[in-house]
Amino acid sequence: MEEMKSRKDVEVQYTWDLSDLFADDGAFEQAIEEVRPKIKGFNEEYSGNLHSPTTAIEAIQEYKSILESLVPIGNYANLKLSSDQGDENAQKLDGMASNISTYFNSESSFLTSELIQKEEAFLEEVKSEAPQFLHFIDELLKNKPYQLDPKVEKALASYSPVFNGPYSLYLKTKLLDIDFGTFSANGKEYPLSYLSFEGELEGHEDVEVRRNAFRAFSDTLSEYQHTAAGTYDLQLKQEKTTSDLRGFDSVIDYLLHEQDVDQSLYHRQIDMIMSDLAPHMRRYAKLLKRVHGLDEMKYEDLKVSLDPASEPEISVEDSRQYINDALKVMGDDYLNMVNRAYDERWIDFVKNKGKSTGAFCASPYGSHPFILISWTSLMTEVFVLAHELGHAGHFHNANREQNIFDARSSMYFVEAPSTMNEMLMANHLLENSEDPKFKRWVISSIISRTYYHNCVTHLLEAAYQREVYKKVDAKENISAGDLNMLKRNVIEEFWGDDVSITEGAELTWMRQPHYYMGLYPYTYSAGLTIATAMSKRVLNEGQPAVDDWLKVLKAGGTKTPVELAKMAGVDITTEQPLRDTIDYIGELVDELEQLTDQIEG
Ligand SMILES: [Zn+2]
Repeated sequence: MEEMKSRKDVEVQYTWDLSDLFADDGAFEQAIEEVRPKIKGFNEEYSGNLHSPTTAIEAIQEYKSILESLVPIGNYANLKLSSDQGDENAQKLDGMASNISTYFNSESSFLTSELIQKEEAFLEEVKSEAPQFLHFIDELLKNKPYQLDPKVEKALASYSPVFNGPYSLYLKTKLLDIDFGTFSANGKEYPLSYLSFEGELEGHEDVEVRRNAFRAFSDTLSEYQHTAAGTYDLQLKQEKTTSDLRGFDSVIDYLLHEQDVDQSLYHRQIDMIMSDLAPHMRRYAKLLKRVHGLDEMKYEDLKVSLDPASEPEISVEDSRQYINDALKVMGDDYLNMVNRAYDERWIDFVKNKGKSTGAFCASPYGSHPFILISWTSLMTEVFVLAHELGHAGHFHNANREQNIFDARSSMYFVEAPSTMNEMLMANHLLENSEDPKFKRWVISSIISRTYYHNCVTHLLEAAYQREVYKKVDAKENISAGDLNMLKRNVIEEFWGDDVSITEGAELTWMRQPHYYMGLYPYTYSAGLTIATAMSKRVLNEGQPAVDDWLKVLKAGGTKTPVELAKMAGVDITTEQPLRDTIDYIGELVDELEQLTDQIEG
């Protein structure tokens, strides 16, 4: 394995082109200089002056226009930084973007405060004269019971970078400070980093490489556990304080309020998966143990592929055909977006030091999506890319159809379009192969990637996070020891006696950025539940199902998650879709067992 490259040494053609946001840093800085007086003018003109609905509409319009000009500013800096957290210039730009955004939040906080205090008739008139702002006003009214005194709101807005502090500290520790050094296995020395561990080593087919990598990785993580726990505790305290100040009954209520979801949907997802999915996944773990001839199935063996030898290698260029074929069913407009993503360098494929781990898609309003991925040249990347292009396809549609206030759907729904594309990819690959080994590889990818990642990894995070918030609501402090214990309990409960939970597994909580994004982890399985039902409809019904789905994507944030799912023909107020999803995973594991018998027999 080669040493990780520096950002400056990677091949430019496989990096994203941020010049669609700003031609260069100079243009970025100029945009900031231009928006600053607009913000000042906005405050001077409208603060304390929203006397008529007409003026209110003008103010909302101006607010919207400033918001739109801040989008590329924040994204340019942020994307630059995520491709190399160690880039001091990017850090500087990110600081500038954060400052202007704080200035805007603080100078514009009067708008919400003043509108909320207006009589109902006033707001109704705003809505009827400017129907494009209907959801904006309804959103304000939804938050009215939790709104604080205008001066307090302004003070809180001024503190916003401090509130983002824990997440940025988390990233700095993780991506800049921790040095994993090297480890040895089979008499060879291997360099170790977050990227190499999560990208390759944790799923390495050689048991000694895999297990020694895990040992070295965990031992180094452990040295940082108190800093990480302290950082996380700050995040929790801030969420708890906000929740109390605004008058929510619990942190969980506060965080679900933003998602337009009630507690029953949240708890069902966690409870049912912990109890009903676990038996299927334990069977899958047993199958891994059997196929790899392991005498003991350990926690660090769970990410190994069922049949690494049957996983084809794939280049970036070749991935394009697979993606095109798999997503063709979504129609020409969708495919056009996919091909532009390749042609116009929307995607950052390279691997380099300091780059954010995992993959994500940012979809700045008014521009096109940008995707970050670290291409390992393994076939599994077509699933990752299909997933991220699912986010792109979602916001590409929603951003075109909706105004900036209405484009983003609830977090509960965000992972549905992405996981839907993973299902479409799997269906495509299965339809076009008769080779039992390849079929087994595809199904095991759906299990080990799509369902494992979304319903197990993130779900265990969610179950653990729920326990953490229970403690927070009980006003308990959180130490590294507590977090380790809670995480270990959840992992042990899920895997039972079928997997031995090695020391170090409890530190898994240190690896996930999602804890800094509210109740995000559970939404992966929620999205995948909708996607599983939807992809079955596409398989069975074809075009009418695709048409429904495109309507859902275009609806953006104008509907609640329950309404969006309903438009897709899925009723998530009942447990049926989740039960069907779990049954489907069970069938996939059955199929894996049969294919394995066939291959070995
Ligand atoms: Zn995603």
